[in-house]
Amino acid sequence: MRRRDLDSFRKLLTRRLEELMMEAEKTKNTVKETEEPSSDPMDQASDQFETDFLLRLRDRESRLMVKIKEALEKIDNGTFGMCEECGEAIALKRLRARPMATLCIHCKQEQEALEKKGHPERPTEGSTLWTPM
Ligand SMILES: [Zn+2]
Repeated sequence: MRRRDLDSFRKLLTRRLEELMMEAEKTKNTVKETEEPSSDPMDQASDQFETDFLLRLRDRESRLMVKIKEALEKIDNGTFGMCEECGEAIALKRLRARPMATLCIHCKQEQEALEKKGHPERPTEGSTLWTPM
């Protein structure tokens, strides 16, 4: 990959990471505020819901941050833009859309197909019992 492209990805990822860290900081403060227990049971329920929601959001954010950090590390050690599965270069177009991509489009499609096979969305009850091995 060209130096210029790497630099633009580095800038893009760094900015995204900074945004996420600011968001995470905000979320953390909001969770803290809702920690105050309320005497009203209805309030308690909605507080709980809000806290759960925020925690889930934070979980997603922190996972995204890890991915961005990994991508930045790859830029530093020169492996950015290479497919982790087959070692081929990931298409620049794909990276522009998803800078955190670690797989080329072919390996990604293969992985998704495997996931679909391995984890059916809604396993019907008893299906594993009656499927002949
Ligand atoms: Zn690949």
